[in-house]
Amino acid sequence: MRDLYEVLGVERDASEEDIKKAYRHKARQEHPDAGGDSEEFKEVTAAYEVLKNPEARANYDRYGDPRGPGGGGGGGDPFAGFGDLQDLIDAFFGGGMGGMGGAGARGGRSGRRGGRDAIVDVALTLEEAAAGVRRDVEVTLPRECDTCGGSGAKPGSSGPTRCRTCGGAGEVQQVRRSVFGQVLTAGPCPDCEGVGQAVTDPCAACRGQGRREVTESVTVDVPAGVDDGTRLRLSGHGEAGRQGTASGDLYVRVRVTPHEVFERDGNDLHCELRLPMTQAALGAELKVSTLYGEEKLSVPAGTQTGDVLALRRQGMPKLSGGGQRGDLRVHCRVETPTRLSEHQRDLLGQLATERDEEAPQGADSRGFLGRLREVFGG
Ligand SMILES: [Zn+2]
Ligand SMILES: [Zn+2]
Repeated sequence: MRDLYEVLGVERDASEEDIKKAYRHKARQEHPDAGGDSEEFKEVTAAYEVLKNPEARANYDRYGDPRGPGGGGGGGDPFAGFGDLQDLIDAFFGGGMGGMGGAGARGGRSGRRGGRDAIVDVALTLEEAAAGVRRDVEVTLPRECDTCGGSGAKPGSSGPTRCRTCGGAGEVQQVRRSVFGQVLTAGPCPDCEGVGQAVTDPCAACRGQGRREVTESVTVDVPAGVDDGTRLRLSGHGEAGRQGTASGDLYVRVRVTPHEVFERDGNDLHCELRLPMTQAALGAELKVSTLYGEEKLSVPAGTQTGDVLALRRQGMPKLSGGGQRGDLRVHCRVETPTRLSEHQRDLLGQLATERDEEAPQGADSRGFLGRLREVFGG
C-alpha cells in the first residue's frame, strides 16, 4: 500500500489548504475523462477523502488506517463519515497489514445470520510492539461440529430442511400498527433463529446447533508499530455460525505493558536523562540506550533541566510500514551534586566568586520570599 501523503505528493505536516490544492492538481491530471489513469485517480481520491477529514487523518497518522486501531473494530459503523467511498477505502486497506482491514460486512449484517465476532487480548512488551511478533493465542469459541460437519443434522439422516416459518430466508416480516400507521418490520425468524433451516433429526454431539465449544490456539502476526488498544482482525476466526452459516471475526486486542524507561506518545518515545551538573555545563558526548541498541547523543554545553534532545528515528515504527519511525525524545534533568567534600566545596566557591555569583555560604538572610517582596514592593 502506498503512503497517502506520497499519493498526493504532500508533506506529512501539510495544511488542509495544501492538501486540497494538491488533490485538485492531481485529480485534474489523472481524471479518466482527461485521459488520465483511472486507478491512479481512485487512489488520489481515496487519499484525499482520508486526509481532508481531520479525524481520519489523525487515525491514519497514528494507526496507518483511517478507521482507527484494528480497522474500525467490531461495533458501530466503521465507515461512518466516509459516505460512498467505503468501496474505495475498502479496496485500499483490504487484505494486507497482518490481517487487518476490510473484509466487509459479515456476521449478520445482511442475509442469513452467521456467528458472532469474538475478542481476545494479547499482552506485548514495548520491544515486541516495536519489532512485531508472531504469537499463539488460546481461544475458547464455538467451532463447527466435527460430527455433523456443521449442519446440525445427525450423520446419515436426511439433513436439514428449509425452515417452514420463514421459507429459508431466516427473516420474517411483520406488519405493526403504530402512530405512523402500518409499519412493515423484518426480524430474525423465531423458529430457526435466522438460520433458515430446520433440523428434524439433530446431531447428538452438538444437539443440532452445528457447532461446539472448542479451545484452540490461533497464530497471530502482530505488525511492528502496534499500540496499546490496537485491534487486529482475523477474518472468519470468530464464533462459527449455527448450522454451517458463516463464522464471525476474531479481534485480537493488543495490550502493551508500560516500559520502565520509555514512554510512548504516538510514534515518538520519551525518556529521561539525568545529567551531572558539570556535564550539563560543559557539554558531553554520551551513549544512550534506545529500544534498538545504543546511540550517540551530543549534550550541548549549557543544557538545562527540561531541555529536550531528539534522536531521530529511534521511536516506534509507523504501523503503515515503509520502515518509517518516530523519534526518541530525551528529556534532560540536571542533577545538583550533594555530599560535597571540603575540596569540592572550595572549588564551587571559587567558581561562584569568579562568576560574581552570591557566595554559597552567605545565603541572603531575607530568603527568597523576602527578596520577592522587595521586588514587588509587598
Ligand atoms: Zn453436530
Ligand atoms: Zn425460519
